[in-house]
Amino acid sequence: MQDPGLASRGEGAEYVEECRDRSELLRASDETIDDAVCFADPMALRGLVHQWTGDERLVAMEVECRSFGSVELEVLAHESDVALVRARAAAFLKSYRDEGAPDLPIGPRERLHRSIGLTTGVEIPESELGLWMEELALDPFARGLAWKQEPAAEALEQWTVAVIGAGMGGLDAAVLLKQAGIPYFVLEKNSDVGGTWYENRYPGARVDSTSRTYTHVFGVDFIHPYGYCPQRINLRYFEWVADRYGVRDAIHFGTEVRSLAWDDEALLWEIEAEGPTGRRTWRANAVITAVGFLSRPNLPSIDGMDTFVGSAFHTARWPEGLDLTGKRVAVIGTGATGYQTIPEIAKSAAHVHVFQRTPGWCFDVPGYLAPLPPQVGWLDRNAPYFKNFARLRSAWMAAPQHVSQGLHVDPDFDDPFARSPRNKLVREQRIAFIREKLASRPELVDAMIPPYPPMGARHVLVDEHDNVYTALTRENVSLETKPIERITPRGILVVGGREIEVDVVVYATGFRANDFLWPMEIRGRDGARIEDLWAKDGPRAYLGTMLPGFPNFFMVYGPNTNNFGGLQIVDFEELVVRFALECIGGLIGRGAQTVDVTREAFERYNVELDRCEARMMYSDPRVNTYYRNPYGRSAVNNPIDIRRIWAWTLDPSGRAVDASDPCVRPHFGLDLVVE
Ligand code: NAP
Repeated sequence: MQDPGLASRGEGAEYVEECRDRSELLRASDETIDDAVCFADPMALRGLVHQWTGDERLVAMEVECRSFGSVELEVLAHESDVALVRARAAAFLKSYRDEGAPDLPIGPRERLHRSIGLTTGVEIPESELGLWMEELALDPFARGLAWKQEPAAEALEQWTVAVIGAGMGGLDAAVLLKQAGIPYFVLEKNSDVGGTWYENRYPGARVDSTSRTYTHVFGVDFIHPYGYCPQRINLRYFEWVADRYGVRDAIHFGTEVRSLAWDDEALLWEIEAEGPTGRRTWRANAVITAVGFLSRPNLPSIDGMDTFVGSAFHTARWPEGLDLTGKRVAVIGTGATGYQTIPEIAKSAAHVHVFQRTPGWCFDVPGYLAPLPPQVGWLDRNAPYFKNFARLRSAWMAAPQHVSQGLHVDPDFDDPFARSPRNKLVREQRIAFIREKLASRPELVDAMIPPYPPMGARHVLVDEHDNVYTALTRENVSLETKPIERITPRGILVVGGREIEVDVVVYATGFRANDFLWPMEIRGRDGARIEDLWAKDGPRAYLGTMLPGFPNFFMVYGPNTNNFGGLQIVDFEELVVRFALECIGGLIGRGAQTVDVTREAFERYNVELDRCEARMMYSDPRVNTYYRNPYGRSAVNNPIDIRRIWAWTLDPSGRAVDASDPCVRPHFGLDLVVE
């Protein structure tokens, strides 16, 4: 029987559905099953088998912490226990197959709590169980709106929410608004869904967090062929979301929002957008922007750029079908994009000139570019709830307690290059990797060592054997570290007078990350300008989403939402979307019109944000990337433990006070003014 506690938000139909088509399992031989279980993460399998069987032997197994790069992770201490977990998993799957693979309910909640702990390797406190249950994704709508009381149809019909953007955040909002029954529409400037993955099609584009956790909670059924998917699979995921959850029809493609203005009398947002049929005004009770901050290309201004006669473009505007065979290519910029694309371009171009101002830290991930073994896909398809436990395990790797180990400065640690003992160790490991990969070009090593501590800026995940360093050892790749003086009709002139002739210039120069919401013009109450609110030291928000004086306005991936307090960006986006929906649902339920955050609460939250930022590695003064704005702080990163963000954003309209954490009280009647 389905445990009623589990079905509180979206019922269990979605995940039972996955268990229905078991024809592949019914045909599977014992050897196929025995083989497949060897490819599962043993800790994920341990929790799963415990949930299937309640086998107490799995509970007693010894767990130890092992170092994986910058984090220590709980793993099974003894190979014999790994073997036992696999054997139990195989035995269960065989008997399940032999019984005809009927629907398999998830089982009792008490057992689930323990099974989660067996996957993570530590006991999860009751106060955090909800967060990890969400990560387990048994309920696809666990991060949706939980109506306390279904509103009347007439109350819902009077509401419309505008969502801007159909990338990861916008699709999340659309799916969950639809699920909640709240009328909505989506305005998207591109001609299809996918946001950053629609736009960034440069060779080598690939996700740099595990794909299992680079999905929404409701996306757990999407089967990833790679541990870290390339662009085309990421884009396919977003297309799958739009189709599976039926939100495509509500999206107005090719429609770019120019301005948003709050109408004080009508209590509506007025949205001016340029669409396929010209300019049009839309009205909505609430707006959720999900436009990303890594979406507007940052083209440098270098003298002579417009004189170049060859092909020149930003990486996010890669020309379709471009063939670089035989071409001499300049890549300007060496952030994650530059480092990802250089090895790929080098495979076909005649020559690649890498123009590097600042090197970045690279972390090698074994098999980063490789597809997952077919056995993993087999388990995803055939082992009930395997996807869920594997997802949980991936999420746990980015748990706050793990990521903080590598990201926090030790104020008592004294070293010219590193900010904590672990940071020093990581730095040494990274430099050893650079030396190993550049063994045939040792003269390049110094130029590839970043001037700031590891984890100070966005690190780059790379394949062990095929990466920017191995590319630099090729005869057709050269590193240029002299500053660019200007671009000429035929190439690039560097300081000192040398002109490097090229056919193609690739600008891997990043995005206007600190220009939030740009170029939209946004006016709140009494015509208040967003720029005035942000004039002191750059963009800020309350919980990364609300702005005082801008009622019923929520940003997804807004200021300070690149989470450095654990889990992934998609998690922060989902928490914020749920917060927005809980606010909107709260208004609808009460027959109220507006919700606004107080200026005092906005500031109080930001004091806490700044306090937490002071201990982060990215606050190191040597960091000079988009992580630091011109005022010397980060407007993009969030240093607060995600468990606090999770608790804060959970239930703004229904809960009275969370007395345990007084710096933020994100509830109606406290930080939030409802009228
Ligand atoms: P970025 O990190 O901002 O890097 C921009 C690069 O361009 C830097 O090397 C910068 O040099 C250089 N640059 C900027 N202006 C220049 C100029 N006028 N002359 C010469 N060089 C110039 O941009 P990005 O690499 O596109 O990455 C942005 C973010 O997107 C990443 O941090 C990440 O969050 C995301 N991303 C993720 C992936 C992934 O793996 N999933 C891939 C790509 C991007 P300086 O550092 O010296 O300023």
